[in-house]
Amino acid sequence: METPLPFGWKPLHLDRYDDTTDPDEHIDLYVTQVNLYTNDDAILLRVFWTSLTGAALAWYTQLPAGSIDNFDTLVRRFTAQYATSRPHHVTSAALASLRQSNDEPLRTFMERFASISVKIQNLNLEVRGKTQAKPYHGHKDKMKVTNDIQFKKAARANKGGRYDFYTPLSAPRVHILEEASNNNLLTLPPPGHSPNNADRSKHCRYHRNHGHTTEECRTLRDRIEELVQAGHLGQYVQR
Ligand SMILES: [Zn+2]
Repeated sequence: METPLPFGWKPLHLDRYDDTTDPDEHIDLYVTQVNLYTNDDAILLRVFWTSLTGAALAWYTQLPAGSIDNFDTLVRRFTAQYATSRPHHVTSAALASLRQSNDEPLRTFMERFASISVKIQNLNLEVRGKTQAKPYHGHKDKMKVTNDIQFKKAARANKGGRYDFYTPLSAPRVHILEEASNNNLLTLPPPGHSPNNADRSKHCRYHRNHGHTTEECRTLRDRIEELVQAGHLGQYVQR
């Protein structure tokens, strides 16, 4: 017999999981929401599908009937299925898309590269500590080789913006710029010189010159992405 929903039950207030974000975080949010009504394992299990959408919902509906008999099993299957959407994978992607910008000295770029690599190694250690999956031997060397390849790739493609992927933001860049400079996260370069043929109708608040708008500014876009990847400006990251 199906467990009835608790009295006063309302649809959940959370973003439906579509396989692109951190599965652990989704489980946390989901459990927190359901626990407002009940701690009943049967309810957690029964209602879970309502928190899914797209590919994740399709994955759920094809689970063999009777293969999942409690919420813990479901959580294990779900987090295993979407392990590649965990943040450390995203960070590896960030490393692969790192670019040296035209005006950036090689030394600065290498430092930036190294700091992200270290972050990824720490994350890998953390994950390893949790799962105890494989012995650690040889991992460091492998990481180094991968880094060298990534570095050469990144150094070659030093045109345009630094990143292949920019974190979607929930506010205009001009607003984020203001916030970041008020909090000393970001310092403005000295006022820039506008080229003679610059479009005077466009003004950049970062470079403080004409020719492009703040939203179009590639340098600012890179600076903001850097801050986001360093863990700042979380309130402007679209979820
Ligand atoms: Zn600009």
